[in-house]
Amino acid sequence: MKRKIVLATRNEGKVRELNALLAGSGIEAVGLANFPDIGEVEENGTTFEENALLKAREVAKLTGLPCLADDSGISADALGGGPGVFSARYGDDWDKIKGETRDQRNTRKLLSETRDAGERGCRYITVMAAALPDGEAITTRGEWAGSLLREPRGTNGFGYDPVFLDPELNKTAAELSPREKNERSHRGKATRAMLEKLPAFLARAEKT
Ligand code: IMP
Repeated sequence: MKRKIVLATRNEGKVRELNALLAGSGIEAVGLANFPDIGEVEENGTTFEENALLKAREVAKLTGLPCLADDSGISADALGGGPGVFSARYGDDWDKIKGETRDQRNTRKLLSETRDAGERGCRYITVMAAALPDGEAITTRGEWAGSLLREPRGTNGFGYDPVFLDPELNKTAAELSPREKNERSHRGKATRAMLEKLPAFLARAEKT
């Protein structure tokens, strides 16, 4: 029988993606769509580690199953590491331009706030946590170093991708195919590191 793990997301696309990576591992991921009673877990930590652990531990406790959760964001040198854990809601305090998406407003604010900065270094960060109902947990971290452009380029991806330049490829994350992005990205790295550790973590948990 396969070991079950809950992925703390309501996005079934993400669950399918993880299950494709888990093929042959004896582990099957299920999403939060299977647990309609579980509400939003508040991400009020000050680091990616804290938020990922908070989510993974809460969902593991509520479902009684091992759980995987992640937290990601962009960190700009010119902003002392910001917006960091606030990346998703960074532009929420700015007026919305008609027709603008939340991602576009976030990006507009980031470009505006770094307009006068010569320092263009930035990185995407993902921390992934696996937790058991008793609170035992492990984490992995993936980083992708880049450079902040001053004008958006490309239409793939989401979020800050059009202004995140991969200096080795001289392409933005929004100019990469999903497969190319996954090979280089913070999320891809954190996920691959977690998949290496997960079978031993789950097996150890079953023994104790
Ligand atoms: P989450 O924790 O994966 O929901 O990511 C939080 C926020 O960080 C997103 O809403 C985006 O603004 C930003 N972010 C994280 N990963 C990426 C990425 O791969 N591309 C663009 N933006 C990202």
